[in-house]
Amino acid sequence: MGADPLADELREALGPEHVLVDRDVVAGYETDWTGRWTGTARFVVRPGSTSEVSRVMAACGERGVPVVVQGGNTGLVGGSVPRPGSSWREAAVVLSALRLSELGEVDAGAMQVTAGSGVTLAAWRGHARHADLDTPVDFASRDSATVGGAIATNAGGSRVVRFGTMRSQVAGIEAVLADGSVIGSLAGLPKETVGLHWPSVLAGSEGTLGVITAARLRLAPWFRQVATAMVATADIDAAVSLLARLRGELTCLDSIEIVLPEALELVAAHLSATPPVSGGGAYVLVECADHRDPVDELVAVLDGSDEVLDSAMSTDGPGRNRLIQFRDRITESIAASGVPLKLDVAVPPAALGELVHAARRTVDGVGGRLIAFGHLAEGNMHLNVLEPGNIGRITESVLATASRLGGTISAEHGIGLAKTPWLHLARSSAELSAAAAVRSALDPRGILNPGVLAPL
Ligand SMILES: Cc1cc2nc3c(=O)[nH]c(=O)nc-3n(C[C@H](O)[C@H](O)[C@H](O)COP(=O)(O)OP(=O)(O)OC[C@H]3O[C@@H](n4cnc5c(N)ncnc54)[C@H](O)[C@@H]3O)c2cc1C
Repeated sequence: MGADPLADELREALGPEHVLVDRDVVAGYETDWTGRWTGTARFVVRPGSTSEVSRVMAACGERGVPVVVQGGNTGLVGGSVPRPGSSWREAAVVLSALRLSELGEVDAGAMQVTAGSGVTLAAWRGHARHADLDTPVDFASRDSATVGGAIATNAGGSRVVRFGTMRSQVAGIEAVLADGSVIGSLAGLPKETVGLHWPSVLAGSEGTLGVITAARLRLAPWFRQVATAMVATADIDAAVSLLARLRGELTCLDSIEIVLPEALELVAAHLSATPPVSGGGAYVLVECADHRDPVDELVAVLDGSDEVLDSAMSTDGPGRNRLIQFRDRITESIAASGVPLKLDVAVPPAALGELVHAARRTVDGVGGRLIAFGHLAEGNMHLNVLEPGNIGRITESVLATASRLGGTISAEHGIGLAKTPWLHLARSSAELSAAAAVRSALDPRGILNPGVLAPL
């Protein structure tokens, strides 16, 4: 790499140790978690405050240099790494948010806390629990995934059935725009109607509208009494029928996940562990959490449900973890088996059976191994295909089927690079034009995450 005045300017502003140019070090930021998406970064910057982010954006904005914001780099759609094939002068600067890791004092009355966007979900949860509260969002990549990444992808996870997605947890936000200006407020007012609501604008924006630097986050009660059950049902339709019963009758339902047999078997092989239940065409992992022991309530509902073929339950930590691992460690088990094609879609729960049936037919036709699991209450299925015979055909068919069934092409991972060509299946041309107008108003030179949520 030759002389780079931009790197020199940012070294001056941030300190030389926070502008990474060594190709071996930069390489660690250039490939995503799945290994499927990789590109070339001009260099990596690691600002440690909002004003440093502002200086980075002003310097890049002035020169029209693209910027890819990266949190924990656990995103699954290629949006967190630079684009492939650029020469270093045209390549994006990767802005790592990981040094924005400050956590404020918990306000127990407001049930809120302010977190830097580089705080991991695990640190957010640990901090909340230290104050006898909990986080309303949780998922398996918690040790690396950040608050900023979770907001930018409007992440979901297992507790959405009770608390909603990440968007619902953001009471205030601070972000830096492409020209370096800072917007938002961290006051966390539960009620305010003053025009545009910045948390809503930025949630799900995938690093295309601004760099989220901090958020005022809602907290949840910490329900220490938890019962976890894994249930075998005959098929997906029976699981959906059980879902209706559980939602209607349980007051403490905290999560309800679905695992199809191939996924259960894959984890079992990966961990050399025996599945707790067997003989099902679909498996449902249910958690009830409360201040009082929820076991009797859960047992009563499961005992009265014809859909339950077999079940295993636990209330202690190790026992619960033995059940949960068969859901939480599926993504890891898939990654250990190869580089998968990942399709995260949602349909109305009643259409889940048809969705999976169609996906299976397509994969059987072109080759591949379908591993499916997801979040049952939201009709959100993660369709993973190992050794996919024809990535284009499978993607096209699954996304079109989800759309035809009244669903969406992305439920929680975002669009990234992976699904940008199929945006028309989820948004009308009028909606895409309106979104492009908002984007170009906030980022006229189009430097923020080019290629994500709009073709290059
Ligand atoms: C094992 C595993 C399990 C997972 N389970 C779930 C799940 O249950 N539910 C779910 O929703 N997701 C899940 N994911 C996907 C992923 O963890 C989430 O999308 C997560 O929110 C990404 O956070 P991150 O910090 O890693 O973001 P990154 O991967 O670094 O970035 C993701 C996107 O957000 C943008 N971004 C990141 N930080 C900022 C910021 N500060 N400002 C603006 N834009 C930013 C990036 O540019 C990129 O477009 C899982 C991933 C793995 C590997």
